[in-house]
Amino acid sequence: MALLQISEPGQSAAPHQHKLAVGIDLGTTNSLVATVRSGMSTVLQDEYGHALLPSVVRYLPNGEIAVGHEAQAQQSSDPVNTIVSVKRFMGRSLNDIADRAHIPYRFVEGTDAQSARLLLIQTRAGLKSPVEISAEILKTLKARAEKSLGGELVGAVITVPAYFDDAQRQATKDAARLAGLNVLRLLNEPTAAAVAYGLDNAAEGTYVIYDLGGGTFDVSILKLTKGVFEVLATNGDSALGGDDFDHRIYCWVLDKIRENSSNFTPLGEQDTRLLLTKARQAKEWLTDNFEAQIVCRLSNGTLVDVTLTAPQFVELTQHLVAKTLSPTRKAMRDANLTPGEIKGVVLVGGATRMPHIRHAVQEYFKQEPLTNLDPDKVVALGAAIQANALAGNRSDDDLLLLDVTPLSLGLETMGGLVEKIIPRNSTLPIARAQEFTTFKDGQTAMSIHVLQGERELVSDCRSLARFELRGIPPMAAGAARIRVTFTVDADGLLSVSARETTSNVQANIVVKPSYGLSEEQILAMLQSSFSAAESDKQARALAEAKVEAESLLTAINAALERDGDLLNSIERQEIVSQINALQGLLQAGNSHAIHQATEALNTVTESFAARRMDASVSRALAGKNLDSLEL
Ligand code: ADP
Ligand code: MG
Repeated sequence: MALLQISEPGQSAAPHQHKLAVGIDLGTTNSLVATVRSGMSTVLQDEYGHALLPSVVRYLPNGEIAVGHEAQAQQSSDPVNTIVSVKRFMGRSLNDIADRAHIPYRFVEGTDAQSARLLLIQTRAGLKSPVEISAEILKTLKARAEKSLGGELVGAVITVPAYFDDAQRQATKDAARLAGLNVLRLLNEPTAAAVAYGLDNAAEGTYVIYDLGGGTFDVSILKLTKGVFEVLATNGDSALGGDDFDHRIYCWVLDKIRENSSNFTPLGEQDTRLLLTKARQAKEWLTDNFEAQIVCRLSNGTLVDVTLTAPQFVELTQHLVAKTLSPTRKAMRDANLTPGEIKGVVLVGGATRMPHIRHAVQEYFKQEPLTNLDPDKVVALGAAIQANALAGNRSDDDLLLLDVTPLSLGLETMGGLVEKIIPRNSTLPIARAQEFTTFKDGQTAMSIHVLQGERELVSDCRSLARFELRGIPPMAAGAARIRVTFTVDADGLLSVSARETTSNVQANIVVKPSYGLSEEQILAMLQSSFSAAESDKQARALAEAKVEAESLLTAINAALERDGDLLNSIERQEIVSQINALQGLLQAGNSHAIHQATEALNTVTESFAARRMDASVSRALAGKNLDSLEL
């Protein structure tokens, strides 16, 4: 019979190996990982069949880290160490988090000069940056993918909101790096959704992507021309999502409790969480049912038992639905379009399952939105298709996606004003140059301050970076010609260069946001995760060496007791001194020394063991002849 051939684990035996690449939707509320298998984009599930991984990370008292459902379940009992919605803090400084009153975390500002404005969260596992916390989510998805695909990933496409600025994109890339993922491309979420629907293969036209997630609303307008996607406009509301609908139900339930009890006391954190969870379940139930019953017992013993009907829910939340339409109108205005010019509307985000949302979108655009893909999976599905193409698994590799800069990019000029170099909604990748000149006679250096934002004053825009162009030959004010070039790559990351054109003096900078993580910090984090792995390995080796030594010591002590008379005094002395040496080493923590002493004890007891074997065989054989032995 021919031998079966077995290929190395993770290696395909086929000559044209399919490269394992995934798409990751790193969401505020939920995250997902998807891949293209047999030509179909599919979301990968965990061992319990869950596709959605709640974007929740908890630092446990025993030093472990829980991610997903397990972490989410402990949110109310351990709020300070259970981080939800970390995406909101990516690439942000403490000043950016305007309303902190309702956030339970202990925020700390980075202290060293490099990260003076970096936001950190104090947990029981120490200070954690949003990048590190997001990396835990990515690690979990990476492990899920490698387990179900049976090999190492060559890379991932990770999606980000279209409005994410440079710092937020960089932070996302850093998180991927910490998680050991090779980022093939950062892709805008609406673009990914359009790809999932195959709109890149469709006829030319303009599409709207309406994305209502757990806590954010984003609307994007994409234009498809000659196989190229262009984002015409984006808008949204970073504080509007499914959570607000839960909150409305929660307030309604509180009113009901108040009506029914004379002495109502405000709810504690735990009861609030419980009711919010019940409210979310009721909301999701009402998507397919006429009424939802909300039953639970509060910590003071009060029984809550109320029923909410679908029409009541619509009435409670209609204003929230209306609130999504104003950014939608703004985006349409930015893109200079009327609803009649829109070829299709794609619904994204779990909250777009609600019938009154679908209805409102349909009313506004006068057409039925596309809903045949799961709205909470569509972004990951599209990212997987893009990852598959970028990994080189597609022969017709003509997928070219263009995104836009969400905010204008510019520089500081005299008087604290901003001169825009790349206007918002410019198609990526893009390079734009502009000439500047010196202000004073004999000026030999120029300070370049890069800013992002729509406002005119430097103080109202976000500072991205500063650098200096030195060595300008002294000239009269206004004579130097300094050409500043802004380049934004396909991931939306910016680099800036400046050159004095008469002397050719040049300065460059890849913009690394002042409040993001520095290269050294990323390296230190990677290092500490490696050294943690190293110390884990050492601890394991020590534990194993100890177990091995202890079991040998027990066996030899028992043997000495039983068959000690088989040894002469010198032999016995030798064994006892080796036993003492090994016992002494067990107190210290050197696994290598313990292992060597164990080996030595094994060696000195070899002839003793052989003699014991002989003795026991002759004892067994005593008085028996060979024929009676069952061999
Ligand atoms: P994000 O993009 O913020 O990570 P998702 O797209 O996963 O979020 O959307 C999460 C939101 O979708 C939550 O508010 C959740 O309650 C809501 N949601 C999920 N399923 C349903 C449903 N069947 N009906 C109504 N809302 C839903
Ligand atoms: Mg989302």
